[in-house]
Amino acid sequence: MAKRHAAPTIGVLAVQGDFAEHVRMLDALGVATREVRLPEDLVGLDGLILPGGESTAMRTLLHRWDLVKPIKALAKRGAPILGTCAGAIILATRIADGDEPVLSLLNVEVRRNAFGRQLESFETNLTMEGLGANGRSRTIRAVFIRAPEIVKVGPSARAVAALDDGRIVAARQGRIMGIAFHPEITGETGVHRWLVDEAIAARP
Ligand code: GLN
Repeated sequence: MAKRHAAPTIGVLAVQGDFAEHVRMLDALGVATREVRLPEDLVGLDGLILPGGESTAMRTLLHRWDLVKPIKALAKRGAPILGTCAGAIILATRIADGDEPVLSLLNVEVRRNAFGRQLESFETNLTMEGLGANGRSRTIRAVFIRAPEIVKVGPSARAVAALDDGRIVAARQGRIMGIAFHPEITGETGVHRWLVDEAIAARP
């Protein structure tokens, strides 16, 4: 039987990037949010979103504001973390072509800006595992903006969405999920709902 809990509070990393859109999405779902800029903002959160933006700037600010350790501690407690686009790069254990990983919470290798200049931004339907009822697949609308590609997955993570040409654009490891696209732009609520459900399930 499902446990009954008070509504969760989801943090949105707000040091850089399109955090305001994620806050708006969660507001629309009726979920309490908190913008995260300082380590103490992470205290008591039930889940966290790392938004899209510029991963190089995000990396610098995460280190400067001492957020790396407490975000890892939040993940260790079992709280779900969703990284979108630059956020997925921040989660990865490997970044192709040399950059040091930042959080190393998702066992994937990503390649930044993998879709080339002519495809700086594109939109497509994407079938994603685990977003439908009872963990089934669901097709959602996805927007890619100077997106990374997930070039290797595993062993502990698994791919949960790929483009028609087979390129992996979403991967999951337990309650950590990295996606290369921007659900907050299409108003696609499925991924945010996933995070909220995981946050409720993760509560002690
Ligand atoms: N190209 C960006 C990076 O490598 C990510 C783009 C995005 O988050 N929309 O950090």
